[in-house]
Amino acid sequence: MTYQDLKQEEQTYVMQTYGRFAVAIDHGEGSKVWDVENKEYIDLTSGIGVCSVGYAREELVSAISEQAGKLLHISNLFLTEPMVQTAKTLVTSCDMGKVFFANSGAEANEGAVKLARKYSYDKYGEGRSTIVTLKNSFHGRTITTLKATGQDKFHQFFFPFTEGFVYAEANNLEDVKQKADASACAVMMELIQGEGGVLPLDKAFVQDVASFCKEHDLLLIIDEVQTGIGRTGSLFCFQQYGIQPDIVTMAKGLGGGVPIGAVMAAKTCDSVLTPGTHATTFGGSPLCCAAANAVLSIVNQPDFLHEVTEKGEYIKKKLLEISHGTIKNIRGMGLMLGVIVDEEKRAELVSACMDKGVLVLTAGKDAIRLLPPLTITYEEIDEAIERVREVF
Ligand SMILES: *Cc1c(COP(=O)(O)O)cnc(C)c1O
Repeated sequence: MTYQDLKQEEQTYVMQTYGRFAVAIDHGEGSKVWDVENKEYIDLTSGIGVCSVGYAREELVSAISEQAGKLLHISNLFLTEPMVQTAKTLVTSCDMGKVFFANSGAEANEGAVKLARKYSYDKYGEGRSTIVTLKNSFHGRTITTLKATGQDKFHQFFFPFTEGFVYAEANNLEDVKQKADASACAVMMELIQGEGGVLPLDKAFVQDVASFCKEHDLLLIIDEVQTGIGRTGSLFCFQQYGIQPDIVTMAKGLGGGVPIGAVMAAKTCDSVLTPGTHATTFGGSPLCCAAANAVLSIVNQPDFLHEVTEKGEYIKKKLLEISHGTIKNIRGMGLMLGVIVDEEKRAELVSACMDKGVLVLTAGKDAIRLLPPLTITYEEIDEAIERVREVF
């Protein structure tokens, strides 16, 4: 089918919830994808940070196909080896307690909200359930995680939303302290606001919030759905902020393309969710966990993570060299980068990149967001820069 044929049928049969690019992708290899007309693109989006080890990566493909031939799914009433292995790798890599598997970022965050509220309820009873999140954050699209998201534009149409969320200014400790009153049980934040514009939080602010949470027995929830699984040059971004969260959520890059999310709790709160209090049919399926294990065995290596940081620095340097003033600044860590340009020029720049065969994302008002596969090669980076040289 051509793009035009697909587009026509999509408009007939698929709910029109996405502003899609005018491209239909057919297949990929490494950091490249090809559309249905066989045009080649270097992909600096990796499916919004999902295809962390690139396309058609042999270890991932064989882990998935072997597991598919062995056992695709079984209910959570039974144990499977891939599931236990994923949990063990995650927990032992960063000194946490236990994991609950979900199927997406929003679901992982829902689990974190439930865990934090029950922790507080078990210990202090009713009335201590508010969760402080940050303005300009993004935590998902369910009714609860929309309300957790600190942007007014997400709080429309779908009333009534879940109660019990208040929003503090990022990098403003006093505001967090003020918003976290006696009704609060947790503080939840992204360390680099992704959808909000690739905005890294200040290290001192994050550390101060962590100490404040400890003092008041508030659980610190770090949403690593976008920053996790090697994206910023460490397995989790919090490891570079010198904090130890109570709850970490993850999804996007964990399965390298298959849908999997997870809530990871510290030892102090890893037994709050008990039989009957939380569950999901698909979470922790052997297929998705086999994929996650393949991803983790590639990504969770010191040399690999170090290279993520180096490749990020390399992209920054190269882009600034060709920019001629079009690029005002580049924010972010590792391979999560926000290339800041004029708000009015951004749409044109993004579509010019596409024309030249380079896929990019946007975030916030003025960022061109880059989330390439973590396995992108220096050759692929050089080729992408060469293709967009004229654009900038
Ligand atoms: C993408 C994202 C989510 C939502 O994840 P879904 O898998 O789309 O539900 C939540 N938090 C952050 C920080 C994200 O980037």
